Amino acid sequence: MSKERKLAIKYADTWFSKFIRMRDQKCYTCGSRQNLQCGHLFSRIFLATRWNEEAAFAQCERCNSEHEANTEPFYKKFIDENGLEFFEYLERLTKSPILKTEHEIRYLGKKFKYKYEELLEERGWNE
Ligand SMILES: [Zn+2]
Repeated sequence: MSKERKLAIKYADTWFSKFIRMRDQKCYTCGSRQNLQCGHLFSRIFLATRWNEEAAFAQCERCNSEHEANTEPFYKKFIDENGLEFFEYLERLTKSPILKTEHEIRYLGKKFKYKYEELLEERGWNE
């Protein structure tokens, strides 16, 4: 992988995570407001859903790391709230052969930076 592509991925991950945590404010699976991270419903290996805001939620460090060993609590809550059909749609999406170009990844990073700043402004917060 080129250095530029790696940097683009890092950039998109950073802003996506900041946006998701700002949007949610608390852990999706236990409600804690401590040590929030960006929890992905599906592994970040799948670029097709890696920056999909419908497939990511803030999670505390503990729940996020437990998800790696046991996906059940996260999956169950998601399916209860969004339905099995939508879950299966996203799951299929992970396997779709979507090629994310470096340009597209950069664009996603910018998009989530913008969305993050929009949320900040809406809430009248300073970082
Ligand atoms: Zn938690």
